[in-house]
This record gives sequence, C-alpha cells and structure tokens, in this order.
Amino acid sequence: MLIVMDHRATPQDIQRVVDTISDMGYGAKPMPGRQRTAIGLVGNDGGVEAARLTGLPGVRDLIPVSKPYKQVSREWRDENTVVELGNGVAFGGDEVVIIAGPCAVESREQITDIAVQLRESGACALRGGAFKPRTSPYSFQGLGAKGLELLAEARERTGLAIVTEAVDPESVPLVTEYADVLQIGARNMQNYPLLMRAGRCGKPVLLKRGMSATITEMLLAAEYLLSAGNPDVILCERGVRSFDRQTRNLLDLTAVPVTQSLTHLPVIADPSHGTGVRDKVTPMARAAVAAGADGLIVEVHPDPPQALSDGAQSLYPNQFVEMVAQCGPIARAIGRSLATFG
Ligand code: PEP
Ligand code: MN
Repeated sequence: MLIVMDHRATPQDIQRVVDTISDMGYGAKPMPGRQRTAIGLVGNDGGVEAARLTGLPGVRDLIPVSKPYKQVSREWRDENTVVELGNGVAFGGDEVVIIAGPCAVESREQITDIAVQLRESGACALRGGAFKPRTSPYSFQGLGAKGLELLAEARERTGLAIVTEAVDPESVPLVTEYADVLQIGARNMQNYPLLMRAGRCGKPVLLKRGMSATITEMLLAAEYLLSAGNPDVILCERGVRSFDRQTRNLLDLTAVPVTQSLTHLPVIADPSHGTGVRDKVTPMARAAVAAGADGLIVEVHPDPPQALSDGAQSLYPNQFVEMVAQCGPIARAIGRSLATFG
C-alpha cells in the first residue's frame, strides 16, 4: 500500500505516519517526490487496517498496490528507475547501454585484449564470468578469484564497468569487491538466499530471467532484491526454453515492453544466450533495441572457436563493431541513442 501525503504535509505529519505504520507491525519507506511524499507500507501479505492511517493529518490518499510484487511495480513508482554505474553510465534513461565481453574470463591476455577493443567499439561495460554456473560439472567453471582480479585490471586499463556473476550467497562479498554490477544468472533467478544476500551487497544487480520463468516470477525475484534494500536492479530477458531446437533459447522480445509496463526498473536483452547462434545475435540485438530495451549484454570473444564457454554464440570483435553500427540508427529512430562515456 502507498500512503500519499498532501503537498502541505509537514515533516512531523510524515513522521507520524511512519510511526503508525511501525506500530502496526509493518515497515515504512518514505519516498519524497517532486510534488509530494509517498510512504510505502511494506511487509503486509494481505489487507491492512486502513482506518488507522486515513485520518492522520497530512494524509491525502491510500493506494492499494494490486500486484503481488510491490516495490518493483509501476503502481509503487511511476517514474523509471535509473541505475548508475561508477563510470557515469546509466541504465533506464534515454540511452541504450551496451555490455559486452566473453562468457568467461580465461586469461589476462584474453580479457585485456577484448576489453581494449570493446572500449574502442562502443561498449560501456565489460562482462565476463569468473564463477561460472555450468550445466555440466566437467565444463570449465571459471578462474574464480583470479578472474575477478583480471577483470579489475581490465577496468583499470579501459574504464569499462565490470559486470560479473555470483553463483552463491557466500561469494557475494568477494564478487562485489570487484564488480560494478553483480550478475545473477538464469539458473539462479529463484535462488532466494542468493537474492537476499545480493539485496544487501551495495552494488547494482543484473537479474537474468530464469529459462522457464514467467515475467511475474522474474518480478517477484526482483522484489526480493528491493525488499532486502537494493533499489538498483536491472532486469534481463535472455531467452526462455522452447520446443524448437533451431536456437538455444527463444528470445522473448515481447517481454521487454511487457516488463517495462509492469515495472519502473530498466530492462535489457541478451541476444547471445537468447539465440545461442553467432549469426543470429546481431539481428536480435537490432530487434531488442527496436523493442525498447534499455541495454544489451552481448558475448564477444577474441577467438570464439577457442572459447572455453559459449564460443558458438560469441561474436568476433569485428562483428561487434558492425552490430553497434547497426544499432545506433535504430536507437535514434525511437528517440534514444547508444550510451558513451569518458
Ligand atoms: C552468462 O551470462 O554467461 C550466463 C551464464 O547467462 P545465463 O545465466 O542467462 O544463462
Ligand atoms: Mn555465456
């Protein structure tokens, strides 16, 4: 529920509402706005005794939030959330932000070389897994802590923000020491202990849609992050499991505008995992920008046939240059532009 205060409400009026909500056993989140303050009531799993609040001085309106997810919903907050990264790049504004890099960090040379090329070709953030959630226990699991150090070196060299994954709650503190954005992968979208820990990590979180998750389930997963105290969440459509094996997944681009209508959080798309096929990545990147995605996350490898993971869907660096060149005019056609920095 949202308690909307009158524009003449005093700080004492606001405090009285906050105290009353605490007294009722719920949490209160004051959200000052341009015209007036709204106070979010959290922690209820059903009806609230509204009569205790309606009569308080300065209270203008009580708005029930009908969706099962509360703080991520547009009912809760109409204005887009803008998630800012350390290097001045922001998701959720007019600009479309491109995150690019290999699936996994493999060596110093690999990550540095690709970071330098990506920086020159229009990426604003560098992706690369140090801890990899692999389907097979025999596949390359990532370089771990060493991989994080190599990512930090690449950031030092290029200024690119670092997006990298944590696969369990225990590694969240270590990963957030190095990451600018903590990634939670599709396989972990409903790992609730991980979500709750990431909600307290102090860095933006990139939450990828589970491979068979509904949009509502993704939004409820995001609600875990916000309810644990992290407002900086970016959602990512990365394809869902489908019946057709021509592609690895079915990139659900309808989910981009649908999710944006339901939540104020930025929504980006991953055409690499969404297709699994290198030469389908650029067409679907174009389509994602046209659909209104707030950003793209794309796998690029200096030598895809030698990649230790996801080589078949990784672009060659020159293909990435071409992808960016094609996405720019599409962004402009819908009143946006590709983000740049530095
Ligand atoms: C990845 O980004 O490399 C990854 C493992 O993605 P997903 O969680 O979407 O499968
Ligand atoms: Mn991958």
